[in-house]
Amino acid sequence: MGELRPYVYGEQPGIQGLIKLNTNENPYPPSPRVLKAVKAAVDGRLRLYPNPTAERLREKLARLHGCTPQNIIVANGSDELLALATRAFVEPASAARNRRSNRAFTSAATVQYFAPSYSLYPVLADIHGAVKNAAPLKPDFGLPSVAELKRDGVWRFDAALTYVTTPNAPSGCGYSTRELEQLCRAQKGVVVLDEAYVDFAEENTMKLALKFPHVLVARTFSKAYSLCFQRVGYCVGHPALIAALQKIRDSYNVNGLGQIAAEATLDDLAYYRANFRRIIATRGRLARELAALGFDVPPSRTNFILARPPRFPARTWLRKLRDRKILVRWFDEPPVRDYLRITIGTPAEALALVRAVKAILR
Ligand code: PMP
Repeated sequence: MGELRPYVYGEQPGIQGLIKLNTNENPYPPSPRVLKAVKAAVDGRLRLYPNPTAERLREKLARLHGCTPQNIIVANGSDELLALATRAFVEPASAARNRRSNRAFTSAATVQYFAPSYSLYPVLADIHGAVKNAAPLKPDFGLPSVAELKRDGVWRFDAALTYVTTPNAPSGCGYSTRELEQLCRAQKGVVVLDEAYVDFAEENTMKLALKFPHVLVARTFSKAYSLCFQRVGYCVGHPALIAALQKIRDSYNVNGLGQIAAEATLDDLAYYRANFRRIIATRGRLARELAALGFDVPPSRTNFILARPPRFPARTWLRKLRDRKILVRWFDEPPVRDYLRITIGTPAEALALVRAVKAILR
């Protein structure tokens, strides 16, 4: 326990008037129909346990994705699904070492991912006592091809579990379904395609989860569907993989109001699609304006941008923006240390950010 390093949360300060662009929350509220459904459910039924398998929600999700409820598990945010997958598909190194040859031992105990990607994966691997394997993305945050991964020799095609954040966080870089399919075909273990931000991208990989028996797609209601507070995520994949996750989850892992909110969300998708278009438009404008002010802004397929600021180190920018009541995120990790991750807020918030940047550069 002494050596475990916990996940580092984005700050949730209670400061009045702060513009919060640090945790990729959606700037728009849930749809009025969702708020109404949740409020209507706050009554005597709070004393009852919720549906243990989120049955109605899984049925609705199955209709949305053209599969069956057996292809779907719902959880307390997609973070819970990532934790469940680590426990279900990876052997702790100590157990694997006792039972297997050297090569087979590392394969069964390995959690693999690209760097940079979602910073929770190594934390989950450490909690589970697994072996971590992080392979670098290309310098422009692109995905190395299977041939390049083979040539570099770091990547393990036999890893028990591989996480791919697609589109990538924290870079915002989008990947094509074609290149992800090639990677999936080459992997022998389970692949989790973590699509937390996919509604802001041009492509998604849902068809891969329904095609390959070893591929899961993880989605969340948090970002695109303005529902971080309720903690609802889900995985789609082959019934055998889904059954393995179902077996080890807590009995009532999805709270009742969360189920109701997520179901109502699926009844009002047009509201959310309009918000995606707004956020994508703001993202384009903000990227152009920051680029004109000397920032290097790689193209984003998410609801945030990763921008390399001019003149001062990124860490100094973090402080200077905070002094102007704008909160962004900075990661003290080599591939992204020179960048700021900025959540796309409302047009007014983007304008306030651009004004603050101009004042800092003056
Ligand atoms: N995957 C990625 C890449 C994320 O950035 C996040 C949010 N931090 C999650 C999964 C988890 O989202 P949630 O647990 O809110 O569904």
